[in-house]
Amino acid sequence: MILAPNEPGERILLHLCCGPCGEYPLLKLREAGWDVVGYFHNPNIHPEAEHDRREAAAREFARLHDLELVVESQPREELWRQFSSTSKLEHCRLCIYMRMNRVAAYAGRNGFRFFTTSLLVSPWQEHQMILDAGQVTAERRRINFLAVDFRPGYREGQEMAKRDGLYRQRYCGCIYSLQETDEKFRTPYLEEFGLTLDDLPGRGA
Ligand code: SF4
Repeated sequence: MILAPNEPGERILLHLCCGPCGEYPLLKLREAGWDVVGYFHNPNIHPEAEHDRREAAAREFARLHDLELVVESQPREELWRQFSSTSKLEHCRLCIYMRMNRVAAYAGRNGFRFFTTSLLVSPWQEHQMILDAGQVTAERRRINFLAVDFRPGYREGQEMAKRDGLYRQRYCGCIYSLQETDEKFRTPYLEEFGLTLDDLPGRGA
């Protein structure tokens, strides 16, 4: 159940981690009466070619659904490599808080009273960590984080993305997640990017 806006047509900033994950949240937010604006900010996506492909998919998604989209994103692979000795959970915490902080800051500066994120549709993400990061960063900016469990619509959203012909990625985004993804997905990516496993850093549990 999605909270309806106090005033019909109130704007909400929807952070888009990619195009496909935006499908179901956009549908449900619009059904609830929100005027949605998209925001793409994902410096966690590496290498740059992959970042640009997901940005292109987000732009295509926005075009197909007549969604206003703001793009403020630059891949930061070196930053991730500097944290190579820390655990998966610590990487994800950095990644999620950094992005939510940026989304909240943009929302606050631009007159949005609410924001949320398409990350909440993924069954593969640290859901509670995303909720906590959204809440903390919203409070800091004196705005509101719309906490919605979009996960029941994950499959539906992926089907919508297929119909839209959007690129659907096979790893979360950072160079660590590229290393951890199933070999049958990882190998073609490595070939395409001209990388070997030795180029990817490892991390703790
Ligand atoms: S696995 Fe995903 S959420 Fe975690 S640090 Fe990498 S890109 Fe970010």
